Amino acid sequence: MAQLSRRDFLKVSAAGLTLSAAGPLAIVGQAPREPIRPRRPAVVCSRGEYWGRKVNEPAWEILRSGGNVLDAVIKGAVVVELDPEDTSVGYGGLPNEEGEVELDASVMYGPTHNCGAVAALRHIKTPSLVARLVMERTDHMMLVGKGALKFALAHGFKKENLLTEKARLQWLKWKENLSDEDDWLPPADGKYSEGDRPTGTINVLGVDADGNLAGVTTTSGLAFKIPGRVGDSPIIGAGLYVDNEVGAAGATGRGEEVIRICGSFYVVSLMRAGKTPQEACELACKRIVEVNRGRKIDFNDKFIALRKDGQVGVASILGSPDRPPELALWNEDGFQVIRGTYLYEYPKS
Ligand code: ASP
Repeated sequence: MAQLSRRDFLKVSAAGLTLSAAGPLAIVGQAPREPIRPRRPAVVCSRGEYWGRKVNEPAWEILRSGGNVLDAVIKGAVVVELDPEDTSVGYGGLPNEEGEVELDASVMYGPTHNCGAVAALRHIKTPSLVARLVMERTDHMMLVGKGALKFALAHGFKKENLLTEKARLQWLKWKENLSDEDDWLPPADGKYSEGDRPTGTINVLGVDADGNLAGVTTTSGLAFKIPGRVGDSPIIGAGLYVDNEVGAAGATGRGEEVIRICGSFYVVSLMRAGKTPQEACELACKRIVEVNRGRKIDFNDKFIALRKDGQVGVASILGSPDRPPELALWNEDGFQVIRGTYLYEYPKS
């Protein structure tokens, strides 16, 4: 690939859909399949085959044997947090613009309607466990930055380096790509790239045999963010929401957009009003597009939902027949990956 000037680079980065159209938004991708047979207990996560199995299996083991639903979803989330291969969650997550990994996580427990969260937490591999302690061992709901770290250390967590070599090299490449006017030379391979800032995050939602719900959302957030930036993941109602009378929802993708519509709360509220989990996820995607009318959609957001009876839904703004939004489900019928709907095809760059 030819080298790109700073100006070209910015142009490429800004490529996206401009939405000017009024009128109803159609679902372009993946005709909704037959709803699954709802079963309890059940666990879902916002990933496909590979991570879906890894995350859902330990969670399912707990649910199947009658264990606590919050224990189950957190057990699943911790698998990704501890795995350095995943660069969007926990240990091995991509760092902020200064090369420091800052993690966000939230948990919510249906039976008590209680929640806990941490944001911009450094040096602790498993932010979801700290979020749970905020919920269970403080009178607060969210701790951030240094305070969150001190709290974690007080509870015996170990201070560790979260930046893996893989993540450091990706960060360095991004840094060297930023400008041809600063003192960083182009990346070692001599090529400016398109400045990809990968997203990730995981939501894990569960329901036990009695219909009690819990959820967790955990992430390293937007790659190369400004230090201190907090996305939707640790914000209750945005990246996660659980209502024990109705169901649970979680969001991934560009957090700023999810925060603007209180996304997960919106999904659960729509289910409360009688929409199916699938309809609720699609309407949340449409709502984000509506509030962005006239602007470029150069981002994606995805919602997953689990209703109290075990029915599920998944939808995203962007997708393609090869890469539709997915959700991994484990219930008595076994493991399955559900392919959801999307509003627009990924823009061709
Ligand atoms: N929602 C996350 C955030 O904005 C990022 C992601 O899901 O990739 O921090």
